[in-house]
Amino acid sequence: MEKEKIQPHCEVYLKPFKRNDKVHTDTLSNQIFHVKCFYFKPEFIKDTGTYEEIVNKYPRYKKVFIVSDKPATSLALRATLRKNSIDRLK
Ligand SMILES: [Zn+2]
Repeated sequence: MEKEKIQPHCEVYLKPFKRNDKVHTDTLSNQIFHVKCFYFKPEFIKDTGTYEEIVNKYPRYKKVFIVSDKPATSLALRATLRKNSIDRLK
């Protein structure tokens, strides 16, 4: 069975990434961040581009991430991310 693709969300604003959003990936956690939301030091930037460029460039993202102009916000995922960010603050 084909694995269901997911829409990744910005951890900072809990918003889904759009096709033309400017993003960085990082060398620490291999996550995608908006350029303006990147909270690691600049030396941990791995790559920069639009969300669509980055997803198409890396098979590990392309396999699982949806690229869309009008991405849907996942309420379940938002709840998980919010919980994670609260846990990180503890
Ligand atoms: Zn963001």
